[in-house]
Amino acid sequence: MEQFDYVVLGASHAGLEALRAIRAHDADGSIAVLDREGRLPVSPTVLPYVVSGKRPEDRIALRERGWFDDLQVAYRQQAHAAALDTAYSRLRLADGREIGYGKLLLATGAAPAIPPIEGLSDVRFHVLRTLDDALALREVASAAGRSAGRAVVLGAGLVGMHAAENLARAGARVTIVEMRDQVLPGYFDATAAARIEGAFRDNGVEVLTGRRVARVAPRAAGCTVLLEGGEACDADVLLVAAGVRPEVSYLAGSGVAVERGVVVDEFMRTAAANVWAAGDVVQTRSFFGDATPAGGILPDAVEQGRTAGMSMAGDPALQPYPGGVSLNTYGFFGRRALSVGRDAPREAGPGWETRVRGGEGSDAYLKIVLCEGRLQGVFGVDVLFDPGIMWELILRRVDVGARADALLEDPQDTARALMSGLWR
Ligand SMILES: Cc1cc2nc3c(=O)[nH]c(=O)nc-3n(C[C@H](O)[C@H](O)[C@H](O)COP(=O)(O)OP(=O)(O)OC[C@H]3O[C@@H](n4cnc5c(N)ncnc54)[C@H](O)[C@@H]3O)c2cc1C
Repeated sequence: MEQFDYVVLGASHAGLEALRAIRAHDADGSIAVLDREGRLPVSPTVLPYVVSGKRPEDRIALRERGWFDDLQVAYRQQAHAAALDTAYSRLRLADGREIGYGKLLLATGAAPAIPPIEGLSDVRFHVLRTLDDALALREVASAAGRSAGRAVVLGAGLVGMHAAENLARAGARVTIVEMRDQVLPGYFDATAAARIEGAFRDNGVEVLTGRRVARVAPRAAGCTVLLEGGEACDADVLLVAAGVRPEVSYLAGSGVAVERGVVVDEFMRTAAANVWAAGDVVQTRSFFGDATPAGGILPDAVEQGRTAGMSMAGDPALQPYPGGVSLNTYGFFGRRALSVGRDAPREAGPGWETRVRGGEGSDAYLKIVLCEGRLQGVFGVDVLFDPGIMWELILRRVDVGARADALLEDPQDTARALMSGLWR
């Protein structure tokens, strides 16, 4: 049995950042990173561009092999974890091999959630999480594009929207079905979402919000998606993008607590000794301490990976993970939407303040949300600002109340000036 001081399971955003953080503090410890895939790591965020053909699959690696060599990390591909034995500190792989660890990071991400829709298992449908998924979708998408075939996308989250745009760009006639009453729920406020939706419609994409799928039925080529209320959409290509579930199948009986994801503390430690977890596999708490959706995004995976790596290596510079603050940069049809933080609650109390620039009819839109002077959220379409700086202002609970007008008028320079005052 091979044995390492540190084992990182999953070579994507969370795992790779953890490797860097471990090696930054521990120059000598033996480290292995294991991944079930048989190729260099790939970010799921690049997959829609693989589908459209914009990014060739041989030029999308997150890291080259030399990166692992430079860090003196043993990089094992086709190492699919099947079970975790925390009593004996070892992982069992699907091919029967065993790997022992001193400290272990679980960074296995998430897998597409398949909703319990009647008839779905009887038809061919696609998901988008791995390179194989993208290549399979690219093949059917280009056939659909050539023949102006019909594609139906179930779900208007980031995955569904990115994929829908790229299917439309490939020439398919696309319909998006979303059960919530706006696209990108949880990422953008209703006004920003309406503008994004408008851009999709302008580019020929049909967007059906507030609609639930009743069932799916096979058709000669493809299937028919039947909606509650009687509407029906024929699909040559069906993509299910209805959210994700944490990739935890190998944790059964391990003693690692799992609820909506692996349960971790503020240093990303799990309930099992010497086992940490980070990224989409964990159940993230919100920075705001409320039910604001958190996690499932790349910046969070990186932040958690860094925290876990520092914690594993005993780095004295370690800070507790503050909780997730949503941060999204979303490009669509050549335009850009940005969102950071949270919107005001429906029943906002007296301390809350919302300021908006760019109403109906204007292209650019910006909304800032404050609570007792502290920045809570910024949402914009076609307005330039650095989301990373806004993110810092939120995390540091900076009182921006006196600069709220300036922030609305010129978010980029005002936020920079506020931050530079803090750094001095
Ligand atoms: C199409 C798409 C578009 C997206 N767009 C955005 C975006 O615009 N902005 C954004 O912030 N986020 C986006 N996301 C989400 C973002 O990709 C994830 O938040 C991020 O990849 C999470 O990183 P992770 O390291 O936790 O997990 P993952 O990236 O899921 O990586 C998990 C790794 O673990 C490996 N693994 C899994 N199980 C096992 C096992 N049993 N044994 C060994 N290895 C295993 C997998 O092979 C994989 O390499 C998008 C996701 C998708 C699918």
